[in-house]
Amino acid sequence: MIPQLIADARKIVFKLGSNTLADKEGRINPVFLEEFADQTTELIKKGKQIAIVSSGAQVAGLSTMDKWARKRDIHYRQALCAVGQVELMGAWKRAFEKHGIYVAQILLTGDDFNDSIRALNMRNTLFTLVDERIIPIINENDTVSVDEIKIGDNDTLAAQSAILWSADLLVLFSDIDGLYNKNPKEHPDAKLITEVRDIEVIKKTITIGNANSFGTGGIATKLEAAKRAISYDIPTIIANGSRPRVLEALSAGKQSGTAFLTQREL
Ligand code: ADP
Repeated sequence: MIPQLIADARKIVFKLGSNTLADKEGRINPVFLEEFADQTTELIKKGKQIAIVSSGAQVAGLSTMDKWARKRDIHYRQALCAVGQVELMGAWKRAFEKHGIYVAQILLTGDDFNDSIRALNMRNTLFTLVDERIIPIINENDTVSVDEIKIGDNDTLAAQSAILWSADLLVLFSDIDGLYNKNPKEHPDAKLITEVRDIEVIKKTITIGNANSFGTGGIATKLEAAKRAISYDIPTIIANGSRPRVLEALSAGKQSGTAFLTQREL
């Protein structure tokens, strides 16, 4: 099903978390970004349009301002993300440069989606960028995101962006292959669920691991993001971003993941 979903989609949103973007030393991994850019370029050559929701500002900020590592103050953390966002965008720019593709930074807050005029502006900007073959790199605007207006996690941001842009497919990359019947990090015998037709039904049959309980990020947040996207007829895939040449492997059916299907595919 996953190769079919990718083949059928013209507009795709990829969401990459810090775990996927950083190396073992906790720095943004330029080799991964380059490899991802190579594969994305191939998809663009096939006529697809791509938007990327990218975390990693904090990780990138810490590599630059390592003396701030112990600072917990909210304004220092926001400042850290502001510094890191520049580094992150620099890394994405370099990754796509050799393909002659430009990237554009879009920083959003929850409020932006709730305001119809802002949402329309965002939508039009997204359409203009991808029509010009520029890749929007979307992240939460941490500088203004106090708790009240925070989206809080990039899985939700990715689903909201996919809906706003009327994407055909949302791909959430994680550090595990997809949704399992129990936490694969605690249970080596956990089984991967390759297709989900009804998220509410599947939720009753699986257990979510302690490390990432419901409502606090982790796989539960990905399920909610998938549910949101599905309600707008956008099929969603969870896959392991750390697998070699992940986009090619998924397209060729050489890597499994979890596909959340809409009424159209059922
Ligand atoms: P990322 O940072 O890659 O976006 P998270 O770490 O937030 O992803 O969420 C994925 C984690 O959720 C996995 O590493 C896994 O340990 C945990 N998890 C808990 N229960 C499950 C489950 N039933 N299926 C898959 N992952 C689960």
